[in-house]
Amino acid sequence: MNYNITVIKGDGIGPEIVTEAMKVLEAVGRKYDHTFNFTECLAGGAAIDATGEPLPAETVAAAKSSDAVLLGAVGGPKWDHLPGEKRPEQGALLGLRKELGLYANLRPAMMFDQLADASPLKQEIIGEGLDILIVRELTGGIYFGEKGYRETVDPDMGETAYDVEQYSVKEIRRIAKVAFDMAMKRNKKVTSVDKANVLQSSKLWRRTVADVAKEYPEVELDNLYVDNAAMQLVRNPRQFDVIVTSNMFGDILSDEASQITGSIGMLPSASLADGNFGMYEPIHGSAPDIAGTGTANPIATILSAAMMLRYTFGLKEEADDIENAVNQFLAAGYRTPDLCGNAPEAKSTVETGDLIASFI
Ligand code: NAD
Repeated sequence: MNYNITVIKGDGIGPEIVTEAMKVLEAVGRKYDHTFNFTECLAGGAAIDATGEPLPAETVAAAKSSDAVLLGAVGGPKWDHLPGEKRPEQGALLGLRKELGLYANLRPAMMFDQLADASPLKQEIIGEGLDILIVRELTGGIYFGEKGYRETVDPDMGETAYDVEQYSVKEIRRIAKVAFDMAMKRNKKVTSVDKANVLQSSKLWRRTVADVAKEYPEVELDNLYVDNAAMQLVRNPRQFDVIVTSNMFGDILSDEASQITGSIGMLPSASLADGNFGMYEPIHGSAPDIAGTGTANPIATILSAAMMLRYTFGLKEEADDIENAVNQFLAAGYRTPDLCGNAPEAKSTVETGDLIASFI
């Protein structure tokens, strides 16, 4: 089979880590007789330098005509002085999400057995390991609602700013369906996180998720307020299977969940549109502090490529193969610098990619 992938390497360590993920995909292609056609496009700081725009129209057009997007990371100090929408992160990432209709952000927080020591949580809390999937609504809510500044009538109050949290039944239903579909393929439990004791938008969220749950009688549904969810994630994270929540709550909880697994260099993510289209990227940023040193951990990007095979291309066996290859790399005692305190025997970015590709 032929698969068309738009590749956006981005800035900082982006080009180094994406190159290794492509190497692993090539190894999968050879083993299973698939052809991955890569079209490289610019976005972020690299695009600003080349074209003056963080998200050139050609990149959007190429992404729309491909099956999936593989992204490294964008941004860096060189472009920090630019205003909001001209910056790599806002211009390129929010632009891609909007243009491509990527409304469902999937962030697995999994713990690799060999890396249990890297978690800040005690062994008795982690137990046999963690495997949580956070499903975050990505194109609605307070980040996209009406916002602005206004002068208040009371002169003592001075300038006032506001951001509106707003959700429609349609938006809630479609993200809830993603969560329940995922739960059906996992441990059949969904925890919906909201603030329904205070927010109207959360009351509608809770009611709508309960409606969707009726279509999935095999899946157990739990509701938690977001403050309690934040606490439960560090108190008893093993109670969770799939967590579904709004844009802002998901932003915060997914960072918390990734931290309890220990390493930012290990965690992938997927952003999905209707149909099978998706954009796949590591959860970390462009790490400008280590760019060009050959020490970046490419595993989060390699695992993002595995998610692409699983969710966009439906290639389950091939995706399992990549995840097993990462496990073999760790089980053999290999580590990247971020996982072993920069020990001299640590494997470089390229060596890590080579070894994982060799285990395919
Ligand atoms: P970061 O994730 O880039 O780096 C945080 C720390 O983790 C750094 O010390 C970095 O060296 C380390 N790190 C990150 N990824 C690593 C990897 N694969 N291997 C080894 N170490 C790794 O976050 P930051 O420093 O806050 O941001 C740097 C730039 O990235 C900023 O311009 C920021 O806006 C941007 N950013 C982009 C994205 C994205 O493209 N999706 C996400 C977050 C941040």
